[in-house]
Parts: sequence; C-alpha cells; structure tokens
Amino acid sequence: MAKAKETENLMETLVTLCKRRGIIFQSSEIYSGINGFYDYGPLGVEMRRNIKNAWWQDFVHRRDDIVGLDSTIIHHPTTWKASGHIDNFTDPLVDCKVSKQRYRADQLFFAPIVIDGATAGYVSAIESEDTEQALQSAAEKFKRRKGIQGSLEAVTPRDMTEATAEEIALIPSPATGEPGSLTPPRSFNMMFQTHVGALRDESSVAYLRPETAQGIFINYKNIVDTGRVKLPFGIAQIGKAFRNEINPRNFIFRSREFEQMEIEYFISPEADWQKIHREWIDQSRRWFTGIGIDDALLSEYEHPREKLSHYSKGTIDIMFKFPFGVQELQGIAARGDYDLTQHQEVSGKSMEYFDEASRKRFIPHVIEPSMGVDRILLAILCAAYREEEVEGEKRVYLRLSPRIAPVKVAVLPLVKNKPELVEMARKLYGNLQRRHAVFYDESGAVGRRYRRQDEIGTPWCATVDFDSLESGTFTVRDRDTMEQSRMNETDFMAMIDGNLT
Ligand code: ATP
Repeated sequence: MAKAKETENLMETLVTLCKRRGIIFQSSEIYSGINGFYDYGPLGVEMRRNIKNAWWQDFVHRRDDIVGLDSTIIHHPTTWKASGHIDNFTDPLVDCKVSKQRYRADQLFFAPIVIDGATAGYVSAIESEDTEQALQSAAEKFKRRKGIQGSLEAVTPRDMTEATAEEIALIPSPATGEPGSLTPPRSFNMMFQTHVGALRDESSVAYLRPETAQGIFINYKNIVDTGRVKLPFGIAQIGKAFRNEINPRNFIFRSREFEQMEIEYFISPEADWQKIHREWIDQSRRWFTGIGIDDALLSEYEHPREKLSHYSKGTIDIMFKFPFGVQELQGIAARGDYDLTQHQEVSGKSMEYFDEASRKRFIPHVIEPSMGVDRILLAILCAAYREEEVEGEKRVYLRLSPRIAPVKVAVLPLVKNKPELVEMARKLYGNLQRRHAVFYDESGAVGRRYRRQDEIGTPWCATVDFDSLESGTFTVRDRDTMEQSRMNETDFMAMIDGNLT
C-alpha cells in the first residue's frame, strides 16, 4: 500500500490537481481572482454534496433526537447584537502603513534579537509550521547583515497582541523588512455588512451571517412549539457563512465565504454537560474516520479557560494534521445558556422549555459541534492523496471513502470498435446511473483510463470485455489494491450499496 505523501509541497500538488481535474477553482479567475473565495467544479461539487449528505444522513436521518433547519443568511440585525457578534466577533488587526498589507496580530510573531545580553533589534514572521525557526534564521541574517559579533541567544517569539508600544516601533514589517510601519493591533469586525431595502443608511444595515448557529437559536422557539421535540434534542443546519478574514490562506482552509455544518444540541441545565460534551467529541472523531480521515491524523485541543470565546464554558477543537500544521477542523463548544438567554433578554420572548417530567421551566443549555464543509474537504484530500510507483510509472490516487468519492464507478468498454461490447457497457452504465454518480469512458488504453479514475478517487472501474458477452460478468477493479475480480450486475450493485451506507 502506498504511503500518504509527506512532502511540504503536498498543498501545491493538491491545488494543481484540484484545478486540473475540475475540483476547485480560484473564484473569478478570469479577473485575476478574488482573495479568499473559491468555486467548486463538477467533481468538487459532488464531493461537497457527498460530505453534506453523509453528515445529514448520520446526524439527522439516522437519529431520533436531531431535526433539521434551513434559515436565511441575513437575519434581523438585532440577532447579532444579542449574540455578541457586533461587539465581539473581531480579530486583532495590524496594518503595515508602507506596504498596505494587513496581518492578524495573533498570527504575526516577533522576537527580540538578544546578543550578549543586549537587545540588538527585532525580527518578525507570519505564523507557519515552524515560526520559531523562521525567526531564528531571520535573527542570524540580521546579525550577519549588520556585522554584529557575539553569540545570539535563544529567540523567544511572542505575537503582536503582546507587543508594547515601544516594541511595535522597532518590529520590522514582514512586507518591507523595515521597522516603523506597523500599527498597534486594533479590533476588526469580521462580519460583512450590507443594506436591506432601498435606503442606505444606518437603519438599513444588515449582516451576512458569520455562522449558521444563530439561525438555529432564533428558530429554537418555533421548533420547540411545533416539532414534538423533547430534551435532549438537537437542531442541525448546513449553510453558507461569511467572514471577512484578515488573512485568508491555505487554499480552502480559511476563506471568506464557506459552508458550515452545525448542531445545537439542547440539554437540561442539570444534565452532566461534561459527559455529553465528551460524547460529542468521540462521535465526531468516529464520524471523521468513517468518511476516510485516519484517526492518527486527528488530535484534540482544549481551549485554555482564559482564552475561551465570550459564550463558552468549555471548548475542545478536533484538530487535523494539515501539511501546513496541526489546525482546527471542528470546534465543539459548551455554550451554556448564553445564546438563548441573550435572545430572550433582547427580544422579550420567552425561551424557556417546559419539562413535563419535572414540571419545571428553564432555559436549556447547549453543546455545539461546529465545522466547515470546505475545511473537511481539504482534510479529506490531504488524507487521501497517494503516490506510488507501478511498473516504473508514478501512480497517483485519492484513497477516498466511497461515500465521498465524486464518481462511484467508471464503466469502461475494453474496446470501442466492437458494437455488442459497447452496447453492453452502455446498458450497465445506464442502470448504474439511475442510482449513483457514474462515468462512462471509452477513450484511450484501458490502463490510462484507470489512472484517470485513480486520480479523482473513483473506487471501482467496471470493464466490459470479450468474456462479458459470453458470461454476462465484467471485471471490477479496486482502486486501492488494483485487484480485479469478475462480477455480475446484481452482485456489483449490492457491493456498491454495502459500501455507501
Ligand atoms: P479560527 O480561530 O480558525 O478563525 P474559529 O475558531 O473562529 O476559527 P469557529 O467559529 O469555531 O472557528 O467555526 C467553526 C468551524 O467553521 C471551524 O472549525 C472551521 O471548520 C469552520 N471555519 C471557520 N472559519 C472558517 C473559514 N474562514 N474558512 C473555512 N472554514 C472556516
């Protein structure tokens, strides 16, 4: 079995593959692109749908305690006042006045260059997999450039949110390499604003939602009143979210328009929230493994108490080992009763739940598993990419779970100039097409056709050959092992179904 590609240029390889095979394109490319926005091509859109469908199937259809919702992207603007987003949904922003570059202060690191006990200057670097190393080499370079003698002591990085005014004046901008142009960090609200209606003044300001969660909270009462739900229960939503990220980067990992899959899981205030929180973390990890993300690439990060978001009682992120570092894939926050209490206070509408068993009224608490479809897609691609050598040639394949693969089966007639054979292949293709996303390909040598499918992660190729005309069976080639076996249509259909549940 080939190993996952462990090179620093895996991201480059994936970006190129995604473009070449119609998975992901830079948005508005013909106009030189727009930073932080991506479009999904014919194969990408299938993968996204598959991720969302798998999630919906597993967390909504297959559970008795979770119902779905599809709320609007633009809510009444007071929603965001109540939720705290207008005041708190900010990132610390640092500008470089010379280059006009903007940085997230918590991603811009600096360190004093201490030589023989004295500070000789400062270096800076944007957060990367090895920020410390980058700062260290910058310090060595600084020393050489200035011809300074003496031994360089350890570089201890801090981020710009911790810099004093004096230090800010001395820290070089990563864009120019010169100090004096960086501003102190200031709060930058990440919500995109728009106006609703013809008037463009303060009264018509509205926001594109930066998360789908608030749509759930403002509909909680509707669902309790109409949905026959009983605690504990969840409301799930999939939808677009928008954040004016200061520094969109790492392809679709951090973009300005993305899609989220979120659940608000409401529980009694007396329930053991820590236990339920843990259960959500465990089942989320199992879900990731089920859609093809190896558990060895996952880890957990518990937010330190002092750094928790304004609403959280406790947050654990499920992290994934991306080629650019270990980063958040999903956040699982215990939000207490913060949101419902806020909406109750600001709207004046009761958010209380009446518990029949205890005859008590209370505002439920909530556990929120929240993740981005695009980020999961990137993690899936990173986990799936394989290169190996086969008969002196490089074979590239995506080891995608059949549920996520954009094409489930490619049907290939061995040759295209034998009408009975083509007819049989077309018939098989037609039957498969009624149930699955499949592809028909008769051009080129069969080996090349296999490689084209490997590269987009098609789990099976069904090749109709001369034998098929006699036996009614065809060759089924497995993408990962490249092993071939003969099957008839009924068995093949059953095998596919068994792999897609
Ligand atoms: P970060 O600290 O990385 O900015 P966050 O902690 O603010 O992210 P959450 O608000 O917890 O992120 O968002 C929940 C999930 O939504 C994240 O785990 C991630 O999968 C996804 N997500 C958040 N921001 C983005 C983005 N800009 N692009 C793509 N996905 C995102």
